[in-house]
Amino acid sequence: MTVGSYKKMFKQLKNKPVKLKKFLKHNKPKKRNCGLANRRCRRCKRVGGHIRKYGLDLCRHCFREIAPKIGFKKYS
Ligand SMILES: [Zn+2]
Repeated sequence: MTVGSYKKMFKQLKNKPVKLKKFLKHNKPKKRNCGLANRRCRRCKRVGGHIRKYGLDLCRHCFREIAPKIGFKKYS
């Protein structure tokens, strides 16, 4: 199961509806209202290195990639 989406497992289970139902019952991610796993990068779903400032909600890797596009400028 990947961090990004547990729905990727559905592809394997689509021919077995009963197993899919069981999988959903026991492996569906919990709805979170606080904590680390609640705040993921909106681009790549990474948990670590998260930037919330200015409502960015990106990880540091994605921020580095798209910073010039969204109007950040490096002064040093
Ligand atoms: Zn990211």
